[in-house]
Amino acid sequence: MSSSKIWLSSPHIGKNELRYVNEAFETNWIAPLGPNISAFEKELEVITNTRSAAAISSGTSAIHLALILLGVKSGDHVFCQSMTFCATANPIVYQGAIPVFIDSERDTWNMDPNLLRTALRESRSKNKLPKAIISVHLYGMPSKMSAILAVAKEFNVPVIEDAAEALGSEINNKPCGGFGDFGILSFNGNKVITTSGGGALLSNDPEMIEKARFLATQARDAAPHYEHSQIGYNYRMSNVLAGIGRGQLEVLNDRVEARRRNFERYKKYFIKYNDVGFNIRFQEAPSGYHSNRWLTCILVDPTFNNGLSREEIRLELELENIEARPLWKPMHQQPVFLNAKRYLNGVSDKLFEDGLCLPSGSNLAEEEFERIFECLDRIFSKYQNI
Ligand SMILES: *Cc1c(COP(=O)(O)O)cnc(C)c1O
Repeated sequence: MSSSKIWLSSPHIGKNELRYVNEAFETNWIAPLGPNISAFEKELEVITNTRSAAAISSGTSAIHLALILLGVKSGDHVFCQSMTFCATANPIVYQGAIPVFIDSERDTWNMDPNLLRTALRESRSKNKLPKAIISVHLYGMPSKMSAILAVAKEFNVPVIEDAAEALGSEINNKPCGGFGDFGILSFNGNKVITTSGGGALLSNDPEMIEKARFLATQARDAAPHYEHSQIGYNYRMSNVLAGIGRGQLEVLNDRVEARRRNFERYKKYFIKYNDVGFNIRFQEAPSGYHSNRWLTCILVDPTFNNGLSREEIRLELELENIEARPLWKPMHQQPVFLNAKRYLNGVSDKLFEDGLCLPSGSNLAEEEFERIFECLDRIFSKYQNI
C-alpha cells in the first residue's frame, strides 16, 4: 500500500512534554512519586473542578479502585452501561461482583435513566440493590447525568462516572468527571490527551482519594518497615509519565477544539449527501451539552441509504489504508458476558449495527481529510442512483 495509514485517533504531542520528562530524569524522580505527579494531580483538579485527583496507572485500574472504595465485594451487583468499552465492566469482575447491563437512550447513546429506574425498582423488590452504577460519556458526549444522578439518589446507590473519553466535555459549563461519587479519566494513547498509558481517579471527597493513593501503592501502613493490614495494588502513575501528562494538559483546549472542528467538518460533508437523499446521522448534543468530540461517529442505516451499510464504508476505507471502526460492541453481546443480566431497549444493538467511528485525531492533516473524502465520494457515487 503506497499511502501512509490514517489512524482513528493517534497521540498528538505538544511542545513541553519532553521538558517535563527531562526534568524528571535530571532530578532522578523516575519513580511512582515525585513533583510531576503532585503537579499533574493539582492541574487535573482545576480542570475537572473536583476537590481531589489521584494519578493512576490506567483508567481501568481507576475504575477498579473506585469499586473497592465503594465496598463492592464478591456476589454484589453493579449496574453498568452496556454500550461501552470492556474496561468499564471488567473491574466489576475483578472484584468477583456481578455486572448487570443497562441499555442506552437514543440522544446521547449513553445509559437510559428510565431503564435504570426500572432496573433499580426490580432489584429493590428482590432486596438486591446494586452497590454501584457505572455510567459512561461515550465518544465524549456527556450522558444524561442529572437524570441518572436523580434516579441513583432515589435508591441511594453511588455513581461512578466513566469519563475516560470525555476529558474537556461539559454539561452547562460543568466539566465531566466531577458529577458522580467518583469520576475516572484515561490517558491511553488513543484518548484526547495521553501519557502513553495512564488514568486518574477523581472525587469531591479528598479522604477517599487519599485512600485510593494508599491502595494504589500496595497499602503500606505507616511504619519504617513494610507493614500491611490490607491487600494493596501497584496502580500508581510514574513521575515520568505524569510529566507527559503535564505537557498534554497545556494543550488540552487546542486538542478539544481540533476534534470539535473535525466533527463539524464531517457533518458539513455528510449533509451534502443527506440533501440528495442519503440519511447519515450523528451523535447530536442536547442543549447545554459540550462534547469534546473524541471520535466523530456516524450512523448508516442501509434501509434509508439505498442499501449502503457502515461495513461497506469501513471496508472501502480500509482498502485505502484509512482506519475506521464499528462503534463499541455492547457488553451484553460480548461472549464473555453472555450470561449476564441485562435491561435492553434495542438502542445499543441498533447503534452497533449502524455505527462507524471515523478518523478523528486532533492531528489529522488537510491531505488526510482529502483522502478520506475522496474515498467516501466514490462510495456515495456508487449508491446514488440505485
Ligand atoms: C479507554 C477507556 C477506558 C479504560 O482506560 P485505560 O486507560 O485504557 O485503562 C475505560 N472506559 C472507557 C469508556 C474507555 O474508552
